[in-house]
Amino acid sequence: MLELVFLGTAASAPSIQRGLPAQMVLYRDERFLIDCGEGTQRQILRSGLGFRRLERILLTHGHLDHILGLGGLISTFARWEAVDRLEIYGGRWALNRVRDLLFGVVLRGARPPVPIDLIDLEPGILLESETFEVRAFPVTHRGPGCFGYLFREKPRRPFLPEKAAALGVPAGPVRRDLVNGMSVTLADGRVIHPDEVLGPERDGVSIAVTGDVDRVDTLVNAVQGVDLLVCEATYLKRDVQMARQFGHLTAEEAAWLARAAGARTLALNHLSQRYRVGEILDETKPWFPNTIVTRDFDHFQVTRERITLTNQELKDDEMLLDDVGVDNGLLE
Ligand SMILES: [Zn+2]
Ligand SMILES: [Zn+2]
Repeated sequence: MLELVFLGTAASAPSIQRGLPAQMVLYRDERFLIDCGEGTQRQILRSGLGFRRLERILLTHGHLDHILGLGGLISTFARWEAVDRLEIYGGRWALNRVRDLLFGVVLRGARPPVPIDLIDLEPGILLESETFEVRAFPVTHRGPGCFGYLFREKPRRPFLPEKAAALGVPAGPVRRDLVNGMSVTLADGRVIHPDEVLGPERDGVSIAVTGDVDRVDTLVNAVQGVDLLVCEATYLKRDVQMARQFGHLTAEEAAWLARAAGARTLALNHLSQRYRVGEILDETKPWFPNTIVTRDFDHFQVTRERITLTNQELKDDEMLLDDVGVDNGLLE
């Protein structure tokens, strides 16, 4: 299972309901903060996620609405020592701006509270384990070095407990070894091979986050078949000229991408105050009905079986998103 929590869903400036861009992706014990707009640290607290294990921050680009929160976060870490180290990934331009903000303004020559690594990204895999990978893919927006991110569980063979039980494989570490592809010897001397207790390979699930983007035709391959596509939708098509001028998308273009890439669910963020939720959905529906206009603290859980949405803050019921035509029309 992969999870994503929206911490800020506004474009450029916050509103009463929407904070500046930030979202957290969760996989097992791993956490990835994507972007850190002003006010993100308070959003993290409100979401209940807290700062624990918040050691990796991935920046889509260096515009201020996506990075200013880093200053506050670091100065809080200086007092609380909430993490042991911090890795900040991004394009060179974004990292230079972050370096100026953190070392020039916030720390001003003081020692960082925790070791801070600024990691210059190249497109491709940036983190990988046996079961999971994170990829950066290039996107075009204003300026160089802008990236989107793809989080993907690797395909795996499910463990079949009934087969294991029939073979007399005891619960515990022996089963874990089999899941990890190792043959095991039982107490009675029989050797059990992984093939005897594992089913056929199944794809894992994936989440893509585009960040700010000004065109979508170049992204179809990067997000092909993704389960949850998080895409910006700063404008509606009646304002397409502004979208081009400022390097953003219309909601229709985001929906086009979801359809062209065969995504399962589309979650729109980086939203302007000038539009109502219903107008946005009217524009996406002909292209991609399974679209959500996100709200701060929306929490998506993505498994092969289903994608669900909850919002603790708004206390609404769990919503199953594999149905089409969802209109979560709060904030209208
Ligand atoms: Zn932005
Ligand atoms: Zn931007």
